[in-house]
Amino acid sequence: MKILKYGSRGAEVQLLQLALNRAGFGPLETDGIFGTVTASALRRFQSANGLAPDAIAGRLTHAALYPWYTGYVNHTIRAGDTLYRLAERYGTSLRAVITANPGLDPTKLQIGDKVVVPLPFPVVPTNIDWSSSLVGYTVRGITARYPFVSDSEYGRSVMGKPLRYLGLGNGSNTVFYNAEHHANEWITTPVLMKFIEELARAYAFGGRIYDMNASEIFEKSRIYIAPAVNPDGMDLVTGALPYGEYYARAMEIASDYPEIPFPSGWKANIYGTDLNLQYPAGWEEARRIKFAQGFTGPAPRDYVGTAPLSAPESLAIYDLTIRLDPALTLSYHTQGRIIYWKYQNFMPPRSLEFAECFAMSSGYALEETPYASGFAGYKDWFIETYNRPGYTIECGLGENPLPMSQFDEIYRENIGILVLAALSC
Ligand SMILES: [Zn+2]
Repeated sequence: MKILKYGSRGAEVQLLQLALNRAGFGPLETDGIFGTVTASALRRFQSANGLAPDAIAGRLTHAALYPWYTGYVNHTIRAGDTLYRLAERYGTSLRAVITANPGLDPTKLQIGDKVVVPLPFPVVPTNIDWSSSLVGYTVRGITARYPFVSDSEYGRSVMGKPLRYLGLGNGSNTVFYNAEHHANEWITTPVLMKFIEELARAYAFGGRIYDMNASEIFEKSRIYIAPAVNPDGMDLVTGALPYGEYYARAMEIASDYPEIPFPSGWKANIYGTDLNLQYPAGWEEARRIKFAQGFTGPAPRDYVGTAPLSAPESLAIYDLTIRLDPALTLSYHTQGRIIYWKYQNFMPPRSLEFAECFAMSSGYALEETPYASGFAGYKDWFIETYNRPGYTIECGLGENPLPMSQFDEIYRENIGILVLAALSC
């Protein structure tokens, strides 16, 4: 997180406001505008936590807010502590504490033992804009609460941000979901993050998700999820990217395309390459089409790059896919309430059957990809290479970036697809 102070704006200010609310220093409106009310709440938080009350959120303040960003506390056992008392003190359940500490014998607590204590709110917020910082905090929060969820790095973005993927389930049916190839479609990131949290919670507590037993999903499937393919682009669009070299360069690229609003119309990675026009499946044809449309160099969208997989973010997803060797993939985009399921005339076995099942559960329409956007996408490459079902889900309806006020509806529409794809219907 960058330093936030009076006058700061954007997704990270929203996260700060949310954290202050969670910590009991609100209520603040999570509007992303750091004004006098946020400053005063932050001062009170700092005083209560032994920090200089300067109303500037720097390294030490962010560290003190960590539990309220991630949803858990690292507690060191003191004389008289029991797990039950810890759960009670932090407002959580004994079951949640035991889930988060699988190696710990509650009858043999030693002074000095470290215990993860979940806090009584969901890790994944669904009422604020997202940033790469929030992706990092929620990944740490979910894996701390649910240690059976794996978290690995599969590469780095142009700006060096870690590209993460999570894994859950113990079965043999491997599937791979990714979100946010396109910067201003970042609402797809919390869709997958919330799905991970809900599925993990249902599994830990013996519950159900989309009316299926989570334990059955875990038994049958191994679900890998890359929730934020394009973290630099996300930060640019949501105001989390600090003014500097990268921001200035993006602004300069965008100035050649005055008809595309900046930064809200930005889809590309931070260097102006469209990450979903990077895959080796008809890339030359995609290049011909996009060049004819005027996208001949770095642009907010639709520039195919200098060569297939020239962008580190696309190359990393390509390599990860080859390693995971999934039976099915979902790529989340916005918008249109449409499911694309074909590449040219390739129709992998059962892919139409699954697509119809997804359409039924979501209410989305099955469509064939229009010719002008029918090449070099992730789904295109996956279908052509593996002859297995791969889908682009265009969720929600409206102008990108879709507002978080659409989140609940989008999540409700897609939960069925996320569960059924794991089980392969
Ligand atoms: Zn897209």
